[in-house]
Amino acid sequence: MWYSDKAPVIEKKYSKSILRYFKVGTHLGLTINPYQGCHHRCGYCYATYKWSPDFYDKIYGKINAPEILESELNRWNKNLILPVMISSATDAYQYAEAKFGITKRCIQILQQYQIPFYVFTKSTLIARDLDLFRNYSDNCFIVWSITTTDEKIRRVLEPGTPPTTRIFDTIKKFVDCGIKCCVNIDPIIPFITDNEEHIESIVDRCQQLGLKRICGSVLRLRHDIWIRIVEILELFGISWATKEYERIYGFQEPFLHENSLSANTTYTDNVVNNLKAVISKKNIAFGFNELLQQITNSRQSYAISLKQRKLSEFV
Ligand code: SF4
Repeated sequence: MWYSDKAPVIEKKYSKSILRYFKVGTHLGLTINPYQGCHHRCGYCYATYKWSPDFYDKIYGKINAPEILESELNRWNKNLILPVMISSATDAYQYAEAKFGITKRCIQILQQYQIPFYVFTKSTLIARDLDLFRNYSDNCFIVWSITTTDEKIRRVLEPGTPPTTRIFDTIKKFVDCGIKCCVNIDPIIPFITDNEEHIESIVDRCQQLGLKRICGSVLRLRHDIWIRIVEILELFGISWATKEYERIYGFQEPFLHENSLSANTTYTDNVVNNLKAVISKKNIAFGFNELLQQITNSRQSYAISLKQRKLSEFV
């Protein structure tokens, strides 16, 4: 159950490996997940698989992740390495990070080895490490995930996240320091956050902060996500929308898909094109591929053995 007032249990665990490949469409990347489980309790979360039933209630800090990361980098047997995404299946700056500091230590290791990285987060705790990012701003960027500026909606959709106004305040600190940032309006949820006013209110705030990049995509459904979305639609008093979801996603109850199901092209194009039109009027670019390209290029000068790249060997 994503909605609960109880704080999760936080425990340590030891991992055997930390650097993992991931693939989204044709994009191949590397990721590290310093935590397992997530305190932010987003009802739409894609990381809640059936093999992690206590995803929201039990957070494991991979306490040996920095040491494992360093040893994996030392054993890396190629000259080049892909930029590292932090994280693909948890928020690396959730509350447990205040207790363990694992993400910070992993970032310090990546910086020691001059490896570019990018962080996906909806946390304000990341401001603790502002100096780390500022001193590495050519080789990193932050993607802030924001779904709504409406507090009533946020409290239901993602009850463990900080209020969006506080996230925007944090983004401002990063933008003001010249750290590359993008806001990711993801997921855009049919009948809850997909209307034009809703999208515009996020874009307007981004423009006020001086953000130059926004991206976004429509919710994908899977069996377990659908169960939560049905409850969310009920909580918002729009249960009738379940029939519209059947039409937009092309399924019939019972919804049993174990793999992600996308909304139909007509709906998706409509929503995404609307977002693109809104941001282009404000001179904001869509997507963060350019940022990825910038940090990927920045590492080419370090195309030598990783063992030799360790910064301490250069200073
Ligand atoms: S912050 Fe990300 S990983 Fe955490 S619950 Fe929300 S969507 Fe899932």
